Amino acid sequence: MADAAPIHIMGAGLSGLAAATTLAKAGIEVHVHDIREDSGKRFDGDFQALENWSMDTDFFDQLREWGFDPDEFKSTEFSIIDLIHPDDEISKTHTPGIAYRIVERGTSEHTIDQGFKRMAINAGANLHYKSRVKEEDCNIISCGPKGTSAVAYGEIFHTEHPNHVAFQLNDKLAPGAYSYLIIIDGVGLICTCLWRKQKGSERFLNETIAWYKKKYPDIDMIPLKRVGGKGDFTINKRYKQDGRYYVGESGGLQDFMWGFGMRMAVWSGHLAAKDILGQCDYEKEVRKQLMPYVRTSLANRFLMNRVGNRTFKTMCNRWMKHQKKSKDGLIWIGKLFRPTWYKNFLYYLVSPFMLVRDPKAMGRGVRRMPFRKALKRDVWEQSEDAINVGNIWNNIRKKGGKTSFVNDSDSTSVPEPNTGD
Ligand SMILES: Cc1cc2nc3c(=O)[nH]c(=O)nc-3n(C[C@H](O)[C@H](O)[C@H](O)COP(=O)(O)OP(=O)(O)OC[C@H]3O[C@@H](n4cnc5c(N)ncnc54)[C@H](O)[C@@H]3O)c2cc1C
Repeated sequence: MADAAPIHIMGAGLSGLAAATTLAKAGIEVHVHDIREDSGKRFDGDFQALENWSMDTDFFDQLREWGFDPDEFKSTEFSIIDLIHPDDEISKTHTPGIAYRIVERGTSEHTIDQGFKRMAINAGANLHYKSRVKEEDCNIISCGPKGTSAVAYGEIFHTEHPNHVAFQLNDKLAPGAYSYLIIIDGVGLICTCLWRKQKGSERFLNETIAWYKKKYPDIDMIPLKRVGGKGDFTINKRYKQDGRYYVGESGGLQDFMWGFGMRMAVWSGHLAAKDILGQCDYEKEVRKQLMPYVRTSLANRFLMNRVGNRTFKTMCNRWMKHQKKSKDGLIWIGKLFRPTWYKNFLYYLVSPFMLVRDPKAMGRGVRRMPFRKALKRDVWEQSEDAINVGNIWNNIRKKGGKTSFVNDSDSTSVPEPNTGD
């Protein structure tokens, strides 16, 4: 393998670094180019969840089987979560096993991005930051999101409160989506996701924080920074084109329903590397292993786009009823993510109406889920509590508190010029 041509990878995020590690371990010369200064730079200390419910195999067992070491980064296991119904009722969902693991994104040593970076370097890959390369000159494209289908905004704060995670289905605070609270070892995050494009998006975050402050009065919050980012949800006709492999979010390998894309990013990066090593056919494996989940998530998203708080409430009730019977809150949610014949059928029925062709996709037949328009019900004035949250943040911002998004959900979420996303 040492005689093989060098491989160039565009993007040193999770999918690109996973591919680089697998290739370098096999003795291939690998160069990973990233437009930013470091891996994880796009995320700035955000907490994200590695879901462990979409299949029977534990994600960390998968990682080990693929040759990655999950001990390279900090992760915190959870088997319980507060489920917040749209009418503010709070239930506890629990499972005997590991429901999900929270990891930090960013440039600190313990983040998942830096863990994957270390694995790539230890395997012998060459990483080039602040390196601008052309798509045509690369073998693997792993640049993350390009267009915008949805956005998420959060505030990171210091707190003395013990570790805790809450997940809220609420169409007002998080249009078409959900909000969440994560506290790990003295650092908290409150985040809201917007699956409909809004003017003045920061009001959604202010109102969400105000909501959590009211319902969780024990949480002392000292705001540190505001973070955010976008998600790009596409279906591609080809995942490999002209010898190039499109992995992670660059290949649209994302969860259309709720945006849990990390698992698919690592998975697809590893599969692309295996194809280069002659051990599988990437196109075939993506269709076999990943696309059933992507198609299911698109069908779920179609349904989510059609409902509001009343159906969210029904979902919460069904979830809790199932948990009471089965004694395991993971089964109901897991089923939602798993492929079935009717979700597959629904996918083929609705995807032509949900997706718009991307003319700049270099002939790969990319169809994107556009950022949906706001609805009438998305127009509301902030409460006094939310205005207060905004004022507190403004004071912190004036003293140097950083924000990584602008107050318009269709603007680029990262204020760096020409970053490609
Ligand atoms: C706010 C937010 C919260 C999220 N929460 C979760 C969650 O809880 N669970 C979950 O599973 N997923 C979550 N996701 C989705 C998840 O972050 C992505 O699906 C995943 O990171 C995609 O991995 P990737 O390798 O495709 O891209 P990334 O990990 O984003 O890496 C892309 C890399 O490419 C680089 N790049 C961009 N353009 C260029 C270019 N032109 N040239 C070179 N390099 C370039 C970027 O700098 C970056 O380093 C969230 C996303 C956001 C925005």
